[in-house]
Amino acid sequence: SKTAAIVGAGIAGIAAAIRLAVKGYRVDVFEANAYPGGKLSGFSLDGFRFDAGPSLFTMPQLVEDLFRLAGRNPDDYFKYSRLDETCRYFWDDHTHLTAWADRDGFAHEVETQLGEPADHLLAHLADSAAKYRITEKLFLHRSLHKLSTWFNRDALYGYLNLPKLEVFKTMNRANEQRFQNPKLVQLFNRYATYNGSDPYQTPATMNIIPHLEYNIGAFFPKEGMIGITNSLVRLAEELGVRFHFNTRVTELVTEGERIVGVRTGNGDGMRSEPKPYDVVISNMDVVSTFRRLLPNARQPERILRQPKSSSGLIFYWGIKRKFPELGLHNIIFSSDYRAEFDHIFNQKTLSDDPTVYLNITSKHKPDDAPPGCENWFILINAPNNTGQDWEALIAKTRQNVIRKLSQNLGVDIAPLIACEAILDPIQIENRTSSSQGALYGNSSNNRFAAFLRHANFSHQFRNLYFVGGSVHPGGGIPLCLLSAKIATDLL
Ligand code: FAD
Repeated sequence: SKTAAIVGAGIAGIAAAIRLAVKGYRVDVFEANAYPGGKLSGFSLDGFRFDAGPSLFTMPQLVEDLFRLAGRNPDDYFKYSRLDETCRYFWDDHTHLTAWADRDGFAHEVETQLGEPADHLLAHLADSAAKYRITEKLFLHRSLHKLSTWFNRDALYGYLNLPKLEVFKTMNRANEQRFQNPKLVQLFNRYATYNGSDPYQTPATMNIIPHLEYNIGAFFPKEGMIGITNSLVRLAEELGVRFHFNTRVTELVTEGERIVGVRTGNGDGMRSEPKPYDVVISNMDVVSTFRRLLPNARQPERILRQPKSSSGLIFYWGIKRKFPELGLHNIIFSSDYRAEFDHIFNQKTLSDDPTVYLNITSKHKPDDAPPGCENWFILINAPNNTGQDWEALIAKTRQNVIRKLSQNLGVDIAPLIACEAILDPIQIENRTSSSQGALYGNSSNNRFAAFLRHANFSHQFRNLYFVGGSVHPGGGIPLCLLSAKIATDLL
């Protein structure tokens, strides 16, 4: 049978491995870390369990598809539940708002808490659904780099409805036109951060994102986010995929239009003999793939040099108390959102009043924290790494986060922190090879961003393919899973 090598066991690499194994390939996955999942991994600290990266789970059917594809019952591997509330929002003036998954419940909440007519919200969600329908077949399920994508009925539907995508307006502008209350504008502007973009630059097209959360739903995996990685690795292994951990791919050896060998190293300076494969799929960030594994190949500079998405500064805190006013997902908003994004994307630094995202899985999975305690995952949107003084930024931001949370919750948080771990853009880059520590590959601030991501195949090497958050269709778990489908469908 044919052989395939996959560079990286991120979620897209694992999904690609499963799809190839189902097609009958013998698959080797090489992973530099000692563990699978890349950004989608987890760890334990002093009796607390944490998911390291993603915390919001949407489109679970894309995970289930992989089990079905392999003839398995997803229920035997992976369980999850739909959330009744998607997020609790807090402002410094003590306004609170719960975003209910039920649309009418949410619309009612918006009317009573913010005085915004319910029909404004319902119209916004309907618009989000309409935008999603136009883009999904065109941009999400196919390669943009094959002519067949552009000449079919779905494409025609897309062309006819193109004005509805509002590519020439910013997300913030569209939301200001929709809503009276600036708090609701802020709430919906936040969806730009779901792909690491700036609501004051990204086109209103990105208003498709709320559709995922409100119309399709937000979910919680029974085992936490790590359950996605673990269950898919289990499936892959059952299908005969071989994972090689602590094994970094150091070179893709080329000959003419083909990759003829995959060379690996194990960190001790020893280099292996290159091993030949029929197909190679890189789940390594595409910038790093070209710069480090293919330094002598022609570099697709225009694509590689696109501005990257934002990164994140994450504090993992074991907290010695319970807070019933908090839920699984919580946002404590900054009081000047425009200034916050100006800091992140233009000044490339962190504002002193950052929006705090607080995720607490022990709300749904009590054994993630000792009795009477909670596991806090705090994410601050941060600029990507351009050589800032991170040590100083982290120290300053830690104080700002503690102050903001203490003010909002009415108790001093600092003495409640039992243990701590921190993840910054430099570590994200080191652990996953993401260029500049970006969470989502290229940013989508440019209205042509979809066309400036690398294709899922190589134009130079016939047996080289790309999957993961840095290539088409983009970052985030659902899109990474789709990239694996698009790439392996091309084979
Ligand atoms: P990655 O996770 O980037 O992994 C790549 C893997 O390849 C790594 O394991 C790396 O070690 C390995 N590798 C790289 N180079 C080599 C090499 N040369 N040899 C061997 N192995 C190599 N998404 C959501 O959907 N919802 C969220 O709520 C969300 N929140 C996030 C919060 C944080 C803090 C972070 C960091 C990300 C978040 N994301 C979220 C984004 C999501 O995590 C990513 O888009 C997705 O996990 C990326 O998967 P990937 O397949 O591109 O691979």
